[in-house]
Amino acid sequence: MSITESAARTNLDFVCGKCSHANGSGAKFCGGCGHTLFEPCSGCGQSVRLTEKYCGGCGADLEAAIRSRIELRRAIDWLPRCKH
Ligand SMILES: [Zn+2]
Ligand SMILES: [Zn+2]
Repeated sequence: MSITESAARTNLDFVCGKCSHANGSGAKFCGGCGHTLFEPCSGCGQSVRLTEKYCGGCGADLEAAIRSRIELRRAIDWLPRCKH
């Protein structure tokens, strides 16, 4: 029972940093928005999961990086678009 529960939880934990869609543990791209779930760390360049809080290679704060990226994207979305 507990094994099944933890397995299901692992799958749910693989959440996209962009749209919060829960992906399977083997997913490389988000099933909700197509965004990659792996990105090179800004500190050491190693491929890291966006769901990790800190880079396993250099300890960079990935959460802060994702947060600033989401805020930047939100700021862009806020801009009025001229589509006349
Ligand atoms: Zn997504
Ligand atoms: Zn790193």
